[in-house]
Amino acid sequence: MLHYLVNFLYPPRCAGCGARLSVDAAARVCAPCLAGIEPIPAPFCAVCGIPLEDAGTDSRWCDDCVEAPPHFGRARAVARYSSRAEDDSGTVASIIRRHKYGLDQSLAHALAECLGGELPLPAADYDLVIPVPLHSSRLRWRGFNQAAMLAIAVARRGGRTVDLKSLVRVRATPPQTMQNQRDRRDNLRDAFAVRRPARVANRIVLLIDDVMTTGATADECARTLLAAGARRVDVLTLARAL
Ligand SMILES: [Zn+2]
Ligand SMILES: [Zn+2]
Repeated sequence: MLHYLVNFLYPPRCAGCGARLSVDAAARVCAPCLAGIEPIPAPFCAVCGIPLEDAGTDSRWCDDCVEAPPHFGRARAVARYSSRAEDDSGTVASIIRRHKYGLDQSLAHALAECLGGELPLPAADYDLVIPVPLHSSRLRWRGFNQAAMLAIAVARRGGRTVDLKSLVRVRATPPQTMQNQRDRRDNLRDAFAVRRPARVANRIVLLIDDVMTTGATADECARTLLAAGARRVDVLTLARAL
């Protein structure tokens, strides 16, 4: 009843395109937007999940993973993501941008809806679900961590609890948009730490983030978790920048 009243006073709008949703809608994303979410096209790298151009080769690893294998075992994403600001057509891109800079916490529900049906890496296959953490100063400014919100949604589906405390970001890092690959890695070194090694020791961990771009952040988190004793770390993101 209260839900209906709130929706009546503040008609809900689709978090992707802004279209009005019906007053009794529980969803935050309209059906056309959900239908427009593009999965990553196969075939893709067995490790990092990036689409491979040459479907005919036996090697199912991309060149980057062959050259410098990441610390995580596998990375998969639910949807593709264009990070170019002028390409505002993608549902996930639009929601993530608004979520990141708009301070609209209710969009967390929209992000969770975008996860869709079956996840490429189900939480039930893992011991622990851990989000990529924000530095406390960032968290204070923004008020929430969208990776944590996604992690809660992913964990709930697999009947797992999310661990928000073991992995922390101990160093605030400058925005990475202007940096090349090597600078990003140097910039991230020792940015993370495990506060409760006993929690992750010998565990198979599913690491969650909203977007994977170069994979440098996920790789550094995985390196940190493995150094603390985790047995394996896989990475699931809502979107993959392509
Ligand atoms: Zn929409
Ligand atoms: Zn790869």
